[in-house]
Amino acid sequence: MQDSPRQTPYGTAAEWTNSSHRNGVPASPSLERSSTWARSTAQSLRDLGMRAVHDDFYSRYGHPNARAVEAEVAAVEGGAGAVTFASGMSAIHAVFASFAGHGDRVAVARQVYGGVTSLCRHELPRSGVEVDVFDVFEEAEWDRALEAKPRLCWVETPINPTMRLVDLHRLSERCRAAGVPLACDATFAPAPVQSALRSGADLIVHSLTKYYGGHSDVLGGVVVSSHEHCRVIEGFRARTGAILAPDSAWLVQRSLRTHRIRVEEQNRNAARLARDLAETVSPDGVLTAVHHPSLPSHPDHELARAQMPGGFGAVLTLTLGGGYPAAVEAMERLQLVVRAPSLGGVESLVSIPVDSSHVGLDEEGLRLHGIDPGMLRVSVGLEPFESLRSDLFAALGLDA
Ligand code: PLP
Repeated sequence: MQDSPRQTPYGTAAEWTNSSHRNGVPASPSLERSSTWARSTAQSLRDLGMRAVHDDFYSRYGHPNARAVEAEVAAVEGGAGAVTFASGMSAIHAVFASFAGHGDRVAVARQVYGGVTSLCRHELPRSGVEVDVFDVFEEAEWDRALEAKPRLCWVETPINPTMRLVDLHRLSERCRAAGVPLACDATFAPAPVQSALRSGADLIVHSLTKYYGGHSDVLGGVVVSSHEHCRVIEGFRARTGAILAPDSAWLVQRSLRTHRIRVEEQNRNAARLARDLAETVSPDGVLTAVHHPSLPSHPDHELARAQMPGGFGAVLTLTLGGGYPAAVEAMERLQLVVRAPSLGGVESLVSIPVDSSHVGLDEEGLRLHGIDPGMLRVSVGLEPFESLRSDLFAALGLDA
């Protein structure tokens, strides 16, 4: 029987047969570190340079390991294409820079990652881009922001660290009516938890550093969108140079092989922890709130059931009645959960938002974000559930 031309990120079965791997093919992805590709003739090199032929040429324009990540992330997120970057922030910057230039406006939700707030405050204005900040929970503000004819509308869902959600379906309808592309930072909930594209966003961005990297050992970012948007963003990347490096892309390829089961298990662990911790909540107790969309008490629980069909995310945030000093004390008592910023790795991580992701916000900024100084953010990993539960309960001084 003839081999069917099975398409994989590494080529077709027929290509394997003709390749140099005569006695078998690697079971795990190969790493291609070469920054350039040799050609047998001057003419074939010229064809590549003139873009008459598209193939490996020079790795700033693209290389096999980045392309494999792009193909797979686009497929799982439901996009036509994807473009990878050296970090989440370089992917985010590429989106803004590709849509808006000197004299343009962009609409950016107030409730976004601190790094994006900082980019909008310090870098975009230097390129002549005006930023209209709007409150994502006030629908009247959506209209105000869209009336200003921005080149792009930027939101994040779920939102760090409150795990509040943006109703992408409703917002995307408004953006479409106004002719404004909607971009969403979906880092906190990758596929299969949610697909922001299927919910209506035109572009999504992930920090690959988080769930897609999954092991706290690689920095990266990706934009997933239509072919048309990807072509524009890829052009920006070729000219500015922040492509995901081959070694980093290979680490993400390694992680993609376990992405779904890691994320599903992390989501299950987080929802169980949220439920057990929420049972201890009282107005004068150790915990005054547990923020996780799986909980019926969460303000966006119903929306989460529709928008996050694959789980509710694996980050949960606790508000401690004793405020900031109690958060510091609990953090220091943890034995298993690692004290570090970031999220999405196999190991559980804990941080205090006012000291890490939102350190730049003043009191009013924190209030508008819904961030309390007594919040502890936990990125739930893959440790056995009972070990995690007892570590957190002991650190908080709760009866197990
Ligand atoms: N978006 C969100 C929601 C994040 O939490 C982060 C980093 O923590 C980023 C973007 C930036 O990603 P990176 O650190 O890979 O540049």
